[in-house]
Amino acid sequence: MDFKDYYKTLGVSKTATEKEIKSAYRKLARENHPDVNSGDKGAEKRFQEINEAYEVLSDADNRKKYDQLGSQWRNAGSRRGPGSGGSGGVEFDFSDLFGGAGGHQEAAGGFSSFFERFFGGAGRQTRGGPQPQPEQPASVEVEVSLAEAYSGTTRQLEIASPQVCPQCRGAGVIGNGICPICRGAGRQQGTRRLEVRIPAGVTQGSKVKAQGVTMVINIRPDPDYEIKGRDVIRKTAVDLYGAVLGTEVSFRTPSGKEVSLKVPPESQNGRSFRLSGQGLPAAAGKQAGDLYVKLEVSLPTRLTAREKELFEELARLRA
Ligand SMILES: [Zn+2]
Repeated sequence: MDFKDYYKTLGVSKTATEKEIKSAYRKLARENHPDVNSGDKGAEKRFQEINEAYEVLSDADNRKKYDQLGSQWRNAGSRRGPGSGGSGGVEFDFSDLFGGAGGHQEAAGGFSSFFERFFGGAGRQTRGGPQPQPEQPASVEVEVSLAEAYSGTTRQLEIASPQVCPQCRGAGVIGNGICPICRGAGRQQGTRRLEVRIPAGVTQGSKVKAQGVTMVINIRPDPDYEIKGRDVIRKTAVDLYGAVLGTEVSFRTPSGKEVSLKVPPESQNGRSFRLSGQGLPAAAGKQAGDLYVKLEVSLPTRLTAREKELFEELARLRA
């Protein structure tokens, strides 16, 4: 964060009167207004800086606070200064200068972090506007299915994002009145719509950064699978006869791959078979996980008299 020399931005001296500040601002705002410099990014940035400087220097309390900061600004107080009682000092009409306010829908950028720290709260209060909602941290939880964690997916996200009011272009006023769109705040809560790609191989709690947003991945629980890091465990039912005599089971992995597995004779309940590399795929420098198939042996119920007889015979043979 850099110190902002607002006097320099407006090209006025530290002792400039309110009137001199206003006139310097009008002149610079006219020259750099995006409506007369369309597509000129430099002018757009200067216009923001000019507005920011004016936001501070046009308000007696903010200006006093700013003058006191001086070179000590790094050690100076918190961003939540007391609200000032001043009635915003802006009286002129942008539409006089530019023949109609608004029209520019692509509001660009906001205020510097220097401004946000020292004037972010107070500056808006002076104009009687509502306190803005705290900015949503650009971190969102995104739920994906296990299949999506295997293959990757995309998501549409809507991120809250404050924007310069398109009506008054951040001035907070139109004509002699408070801007009806932002109610004097100069900014509005907007939303940013993003399409983001979630790569294959995310795991529970993975952080994926895309377009300034951090997505924290939550893999939706799947009744057929248990997930441990990159390893995936699937329970598979086999009947008593298959477990004792051997059988073959087949199923689809979460990636959609058809797999068949030979269950050897005399496999115990709970026995696991490892399918190497068939867990969540390799990503972020980590190897692919394994897929474990765990047997769940189901015992026969409602035995017929004949079946019971045979089990009794088996039991006698083992006694
Ligand atoms: Zn506005």
